[in-house]
Amino acid sequence: MPPETKCPVCMNLVPDWHFEWHVRQDQADIFAGKKMMECPLCRAGVGFDGFLVTKTEPAQVLAKRDLWQAAHWARSQNKSLRDYLKTREGEPYVKFWSETEIESADERAAAE
Ligand SMILES: [Zn+2]
Repeated sequence: MPPETKCPVCMNLVPDWHFEWHVRQDQADIFAGKKMMECPLCRAGVGFDGFLVTKTEPAQVLAKRDLWQAAHWARSQNKSLRDYLKTREGEPYVKFWSETEIESADERAAAE
């Protein structure tokens, strides 16, 4: 989430921003305006208040989506992260992590 929302910097439609892939502290910091969420298409930092994706001060810290959160999330959708990254919604994130990293996170999520 949020789904189907335009990036205010590159103006491209992001199928899913995957805010929930940030660790809890980063989620709180993004909501509070202390950190920025990264556009998966242009890699610019944007603000997110839980509702709107907005342009923000470029000096803020960029929060990185967390591989383990992503693998865990994919598992909750009955998918591996590797398979999810082949979907339209997942594809923008395919370069965020290496094949090996994704494979090991999937194995760990499956073992839970
Ligand atoms: Zn963008």
